[in-house]
Amino acid sequence: MLRGSCMCKKVKYEIDGEPHMMYHCHCGKCRAASGASFVTNIIVATNKFWVVAGREHLSAYESSPNKHRYFCSNCGSPVYSHGQTTQHYVAVRCGTLESDPGIRPTHHSYVTSKAAWVSIEDALPQYTERPTLTPQSPP
Ligand SMILES: [Zn+2]
Ligand SMILES: [Zn+2]
Repeated sequence: MLRGSCMCKKVKYEIDGEPHMMYHCHCGKCRAASGASFVTNIIVATNKFWVVAGREHLSAYESSPNKHRYFCSNCGSPVYSHGQTTQHYVAVRCGTLESDPGIRPTHHSYVTSKAAWVSIEDALPQYTERPTLTPQSPP
């Protein structure tokens, strides 16, 4: 069981089992939402992810049509996002994890939106948007 929480610890979540994938996202919305130069997300099946405390503190912002970014309204931590087109998965912000999920990033997404001051020093694949995936696959 993986656990995570926002900065003020009011919002807590649990993940049952292995996350599906970890990746870095350089898109402008992730950068603005996090205040960071890029974010690292894990993809988790919706039915393996539970908000176990502080649901009343979660606020959602619809950053794209039918895609919501959930954050703690008390401390502002971005926690996860969920979109209609990928409704079977949530993208959890790795900065809120309390322990090592075991898996490591597989790629960089949206590198065309990468911050000018960021240089990618690893050998992971870089995608201009998100990788082309089969309909069953997560983002
Ligand atoms: Zn909080
Ligand atoms: Zn993004």
